[in-house]
Order: sequence, then structure tokens, then C-alpha cells
Amino acid sequence: MHGPDTEQLAFDSQHIWHPYSSMINPPPMFPVESASGVRLRLTDGRELIDGMASWWSVVHGYNHPALNQAAHEQIDRMSHVMFGGLTHSPAIELSRKLVEMTPEGLERVFLADSGSVSVEVALKMAIQYWHARGKPEKHRMISLRNGYHGDTFGAMSVCDPVNGMHELFSGVLAQQLFAPRPEPPFDGGFAATDIAELERLLDQHHGELAALILEPIVQGAGGMRFYSPEWLRQARALCDQYKVLLIADEIATGFGRSGELFACNHAGISPDIMCLGKALTGGYMTLAATLATAEIAHTISAGGAGCFMHGPTFMANPLACAVALESLNQLEQQDWHSQVQRIESGLKQGLEPARALTSVADVRVLGAIGVIERHEPVSLAQVQPMFVDQGVWVRPFGRLVYVMPAYIMSDADLTTLTTAMVAVMQELDRL
Ligand SMILES: *Cc1c(COP(=O)(O)O)cnc(C)c1O
Repeated sequence: MHGPDTEQLAFDSQHIWHPYSSMINPPPMFPVESASGVRLRLTDGRELIDGMASWWSVVHGYNHPALNQAAHEQIDRMSHVMFGGLTHSPAIELSRKLVEMTPEGLERVFLADSGSVSVEVALKMAIQYWHARGKPEKHRMISLRNGYHGDTFGAMSVCDPVNGMHELFSGVLAQQLFAPRPEPPFDGGFAATDIAELERLLDQHHGELAALILEPIVQGAGGMRFYSPEWLRQARALCDQYKVLLIADEIATGFGRSGELFACNHAGISPDIMCLGKALTGGYMTLAATLATAEIAHTISAGGAGCFMHGPTFMANPLACAVALESLNQLEQQDWHSQVQRIESGLKQGLEPARALTSVADVRVLGAIGVIERHEPVSLAQVQPMFVDQGVWVRPFGRLVYVMPAYIMSDADLTTLTTAMVAVMQELDRL
């Protein structure tokens, strides 16, 4: 099957939900026929340099020979078997690798089927942990304003209450606590007052709190903000002091994106529970993981339920695990660290000219993440075709025009991408 034709596109706009989309006023769609390396090929033959890596995930590029081979080999053996009572090498070797790679102490692996589910699993682990310790009253969560943790109900309850439209779901969502977003920037100074409100909330509410959940260093979908490693270190210390678990949602930041293998490494901390997803399979298919300490796993298993109460149908899907394992091998073989450093300097250099534009409030880069923050939101309907005309795929969100390219993007393609971003910003200023 090739790319969709006109009739198929009409069916799409009438019958198929796309992410956060209207069925009355469906957004324009660009039909893709295939993708290879950092290029998306549209059905009309145009090729776009992809700045989004399909939402952080395609770190090695599309149609990667080694990932393709891993998928082919596994699919000829078995694409899926249930994980209840059965086990297999792809799950075992992937989990072994995750335990090795992730910060110290994260030793027990739950393989989930999407980022949001891995967050549900993390929240549930925290609640079951305190229940097993005879403190069932510790079942609420505290999270940060501007946070994003997924679209399922537990995850939504810890998303930013305004961005997450908590009002719409009030009475349905669990009532959680929110601390202010971390203000000190990634490479700025840190003052004790910067974390005072989190400390006050923990001091007042720790008796009912199971965990603090946060995105370490990079607040992604809730604002693309980078904050101080010292803030994260202090938050870790406060969690220890007030006996509240720390859940690090590294679904976006995991596997090198922020310049460290995990964003927690910037601060040299280990969370009690960590969520991984997005880049885990190199963007080939959906898979996520929730890692926890041995103590958490042991406590839950020794509790009243006698087990952890979760087990999705497609848990540890062998096909996804095999591709994920190969993706992690590729990270090491391709020297992700120098690739990400190279992209970081390319983004810094390439996006810098946008700083001079009156419509631009800030330009910031961390690892392989580049952000132009505007004073006013952009209209997607207006701006998306402008990027396509420039030969790039960039999908802004509100006031944020941002990219997170595949680590394999060449310097020449990176220059084309950033030049196009600046050109579109200039064009918007002229309109
Ligand atoms: C994308 C994302 C999620 C949700 O993952 P899905 O796979 O979309 O369910 C959760 N947390 C963070 C930080 C994310 O970026």
C-alpha cells in the first residue's frame, strides 16, 4: 500500500481521530508514503527533514537497517506471547540492559505498553508501597505546575491543572497537590527560596503523600522548560527527609535526549521509580517501562495483595522488546553522547538568529532539544504549510516552536532545519 489517495484522505477527515483534534473542523493532514533516515516522504513526492523525530522517539532515524533486522528476526520467531506464566529472551535481555543503564538502585522492571500506562504503573506502585507499609493514608501525589505525564486518568491528575484542563474533568480526576514549576534555569544560580514552596507542601502534607512525580530537568509538553540540576537534587533530598517517594518521568528525556543518558544524571540522583517510553524502541512501536528499587518491589510483594496489581495483555511484547534491545545497542555503538553534543551545538548556532526577532521571547537549547518560544501562540493551520514549503517537518505547540531531531541528523540537514525555522519566524513577523 502506498500513501493515501484523495478518497482515503476524505475518509480520514470524516472518520478518524488524530491527536487532540476536532471532528467538526478536522486539521489539514499531510499524507506520508514512507520514511527513511531523517526524511519523511509525502505522497506528492516531496521530502521533509523531520525535526520532531515523531515526538522524541525516532532517535536513530526511520527505516534503520539494524532495527529492521531485529524486527524481522523476532517476527519470524514470535511476534507476541502472553507474559503471564511465560517469559522470553527479548524481555529478559532488554530488562537486563535497562537495569544496567539506568541510575543506581533501579533494579526491578515492569514492561508496560505506553508512556501513560508506565505512569499509571508508577503511581500504583507508590500507592501499593505505602499500603503495604501500613500507611494507606499516603495515597495522594504531588507534582509540578507545567508538568506533563500522559493522557490517562491517573496521569492526567498529575498534569498541569490548567494545561491539562482539570476543570473539564473535575469530580473525576483524583485531587493531587501541585508545587510551583522550578524557576532556576538549567545553568543559572539556585537559591533556597526557589524550592521553599515544595518544602512547605511536603512539610504540611507528607502524611498523605505517596510520591512526588516530576519530569527531571526538562518539562516537556507543559512548556519545554529546562531547570536547574540543583533544584532536582534538593527535591530528592526533600523526598528523603519527608518520606515521600520520588518518581522521575523520563519518558521524553530518557536515552540521551538532554545530553545525559537520563536527565537525572545531570543532578547525579536516583529516583525511587522511573518511567521510560518514547525513544525506548527507537520509535518503532509502542513500549514503555517502569523501573523501581528492590525495596519497593519487595515491600509491595510482601503486602496484603501479595503481588503488584497490574498486567496488561500486551505486557513485554517480544517484537517491541527485541527492537528496543537493538535500539539500546545502537545508542552505544553510535556514540550517542558525541552525536547529541554535535546536535546541541548545531541547534545553538542555527537558532541563535531567532533571538533578534521581536516576536521571539526566548531561544533555548539543551542536548538535542531546540526551542524558540514566541510571545504569541502560532496558528498551526497557518504555520504548518509554511514549514512544509521550506522542506521541514516542525509542529509547533502554542507559543513553542521546537525540534528534537534524530541523533543521526547530519550537520547539513540540521542547518537546513534551523534555517527553515528562523525563516518561518521571520516570515510570520512580516505577515
Ligand atoms: C509523552 C509523554 C508521556 C505519555 O506517553 P504516551 O506514550 O504518549 O502515553 C508521559 N510523560 C512524558 C514526560 C511524556 O513526554
